[in-house]
Amino acid sequence: MMAFDLTLRTALERAAKLFPHKEIISRDYSGTFRYTYADFYQRTQKLANVLQNFGIQKGERVATLAWNHHRHLELYFAIPCSGAVLHTLNLRLAPEQLVYIINHAEDQAIFVDKDLVPLLEVIKERIPTVKHIVVMSDTLDIPGTSLANPLSYEVLLAKAKETFSFPDLSEWDSAAMCYTTATTGDPKGVVYTHRGLMLHSYAAVLPDAINIGETDRVMPFVPMFHANAWGLPFACTWLGATQIFPGERPQAEDICRLIQEHKVTLAAGVPTIWMATYPLWENGKYDPSSLREIVSGGSAAPKSLLKNYMEKLGVSILHAYGMTETTPVVLVSRLKSTMKDWTDEEKYSVAAKQGLLVPGLEMKIVVEDGKEVPWDGKTMGELLLRGPWIAKEYYKEPVRSTAAFADGWLHTGDIVTVDAEGYVSIADRSKDLIKSGGEWISSIDLENTIMSHPAVAEAAVIAMYHPKWIERPLACVVLKKEYVGKVGTGDILDYLTGKVPKLWLPDRVEFLDVLPKTSVGKFYKQALRKQFAGLMVANSEGSGA
Ligand code: AMP
Repeated sequence: MMAFDLTLRTALERAAKLFPHKEIISRDYSGTFRYTYADFYQRTQKLANVLQNFGIQKGERVATLAWNHHRHLELYFAIPCSGAVLHTLNLRLAPEQLVYIINHAEDQAIFVDKDLVPLLEVIKERIPTVKHIVVMSDTLDIPGTSLANPLSYEVLLAKAKETFSFPDLSEWDSAAMCYTTATTGDPKGVVYTHRGLMLHSYAAVLPDAINIGETDRVMPFVPMFHANAWGLPFACTWLGATQIFPGERPQAEDICRLIQEHKVTLAAGVPTIWMATYPLWENGKYDPSSLREIVSGGSAAPKSLLKNYMEKLGVSILHAYGMTETTPVVLVSRLKSTMKDWTDEEKYSVAAKQGLLVPGLEMKIVVEDGKEVPWDGKTMGELLLRGPWIAKEYYKEPVRSTAAFADGWLHTGDIVTVDAEGYVSIADRSKDLIKSGGEWISSIDLENTIMSHPAVAEAAVIAMYHPKWIERPLACVVLKKEYVGKVGTGDILDYLTGKVPKLWLPDRVEFLDVLPKTSVGKFYKQALRKQFAGLMVANSEGSGA
């Protein structure tokens, strides 16, 4: 066989040659923007010329601070295909974290959306490697800013040379990078090679994985700054699928409207999004019938959510699992053909698991001494992964990489069980498991059960100190508006009784107006622990006396 390098150039040029008339649609500041893959390819070449004029060298990092839109897609290809590294900055990070990440990656240029310019104004004196700041907007002008010499994306493109010959790169060249929040310490960088991104694309689009084809109309709500929007922009461009981008700050109403208006067949995002959009579809305000499937990942999708979508809306939700370190798709919960005669309840239970390993990867689930756990659906162990799109280290972090990538495996920190069919189910992240009197309690299972209560909008469970059992569950619950003041602790405990082991019943239920979320929309348990720290410290101190 030929030693043919797997690079993103192949994906870009295939789309331009085979699907020049297919569309890319973007919600823009002033409305809807649409163009074709032919136009996209032309602008991507112009953008590559802009990077060359900036003097960007092979392997140097070029950052984006942007929402999901067509300009971001142009950067997704122009940067790596010209040999540089696309570094997507998380726009929800605190200024201190942005400064750390930009300096650690030594970003040479930043492409920023016009409404996000204030984020850079705050840190502009502290990012010395950045030589060019390019503001993206749908007009030629730049809003007033204290940044020195900001450039306009549209002006640069208007002046750039039309054609660019993308170089032959090695498949091992770095193409992109993304930082992930660490449990402790500074964020950690993950670098993706061209090879990793291409092999991930091959696997992700398989029918048994996410299942995407040219006829699909795909809308990623998962941010393009979070694990490359799960790799969808790369894979969809390669296939020539129609891509629809939700633009700046999409709200639940925008999401439902865009899906209906653009006949989206496949949408992807964290479960929080699908919880927020559900009522708008259920009450008939919007029509979700174009959706062939929703991909829900990043945190656990409760069984009740899958059931509501399937039974009340007729829309299937595919539960997927991954990490920044894994490009990200690792597990998807599709039912096997041998399960077709199972009861609905059994099928939903399988669908709510994180799922089966996608082809191309290897996993093992181990306990502390490195022994693998039996596939009994009960015994918990840490999920370890390896494969061609799993990171091998954290960028410039040899010490922190040692434990996480020991013995050639990524140690995910996720505590899981695997059943006899091979379906993996996450009990929790290692730090989140509640150990009560030596017995594990899965906060995720408990949350999901609480969230199946008709009055509950959201629930997160954390461990609180207990003098006898050491840890006990504390449930933080947000009620649906119409139930506020009408449902109390007793109602929640009554509901849980019989559905979960007695040991799991929360010792305390706190009703909150909202749950804190991380920058990517997951429940931010660290903030909850902080919020209730007083209560826990008081208890633990009391017990020590
Ligand atoms: P991130 O790198 O920010 O995408 O976070 C990855 C982590 O999110 C994983 O290690 C899991 O702890 C969690 N996660 C991702 N997908 C799921 C899922 N489907 N169910 C439960 N947890 C998930």
